[in-house]
Amino acid sequence: MLINATHINLYHVCKRELWLHFHGVRMEFNSDLVADGKLIGETSYKDRSEKYTELQLGNIKIDFYDARNHVVHEVKRSDKVEHAYTAQVKYYLYRLLLAGIDDATGIIEYPTLRQREQVLLSKEDIDDIKMWEEDIQQICESEECPKVINAKICKSCSYCDFCYIKEEY
Ligand code: SF4
Repeated sequence: MLINATHINLYHVCKRELWLHFHGVRMEFNSDLVADGKLIGETSYKDRSEKYTELQLGNIKIDFYDARNHVVHEVKRSDKVEHAYTAQVKYYLYRLLLAGIDDATGIIEYPTLRQREQVLLSKEDIDDIKMWEEDIQQICESEECPKVINAKICKSCSYCDFCYIKEEY
């Protein structure tokens, strides 16, 4: 399986969500991914495409890459799953490293919160990423869908109804 940044992100949010996504169950009309896409289109970041390049690295695409300074820019709506966004950007840095760019850094921008977080890639991160990739492969290739996580994040997850539907007879 070809692992991409969405798999890395979902792996850190919810393994069940990762499995559902991988198996083609889509309910993204109200998802964070879609909302983030709208945000990028609607905010003051209109000049972003002039400043940054879209970079395709094999099966992954970095939307906003500052090619001169080797900086990945990732825009998010809220920081409620910040650890997943950080993992996603570390994965971009890892893939850039594999492509020969060993000094790339990342910035996660939260325009609505007026915050920015810098992301760096360490040697330990590289070991972690290799473990994530193995784990993701195992989860996705399993026939069993992971159990619901009963977490706060479920309320804003596009799979919420699907996961917590009560069967009434
Ligand atoms: S609703 Fe909760 S358990 Fe279900 S996929 Fe989303 S985060 Fe995971």
